[in-house]
Amino acid sequence: MTHFADFTVYDYLEPEQRDPRSRKPMLNVGWLDPAHEYPMVDADPALVEALLALVVDVRHEMRGMQACEFCPEPVCPVLTNPHDPGGRTLLGNGEIHVVGNGMRFAAPTMVIHYIDEHYYRPPDEFAAAALRHAARLA
Ligand SMILES: [Zn+2]
Repeated sequence: MTHFADFTVYDYLEPEQRDPRSRKPMLNVGWLDPAHEYPMVDADPALVEALLALVVDVRHEMRGMQACEFCPEPVCPVLTNPHDPGGRTLLGNGEIHVVGNGMRFAAPTMVIHYIDEHYYRPPDEFAAAALRHAARLA
């Protein structure tokens, strides 16, 4: 798995390779792998809900599937998602870009699963931005 520490500068793709809506500088969040410890907390349902709304606008899709390496078996989770026209969202094949509170973040779509199933605690700034971003969509 591609690992980037939280709050490092996003450089997975060069600016000219990126979605035109995602060319401003962004910070990495949630690029976890089992070789690195991460902060833990019980999932905030409001944050999960906000990210489910944002993941529908997936960015940089299909750069290969990335299965979850924290699950006993490597899986790409499929979540029930009322925001998705199909009612379900496959994770592990793209990025969520969060813009809020004057900050921009790039997370793998799998971040929802990390939060929901593996107790990952993303930075407070990311959570606040995601809640604000999702509120703008509602
Ligand atoms: Zn997992």
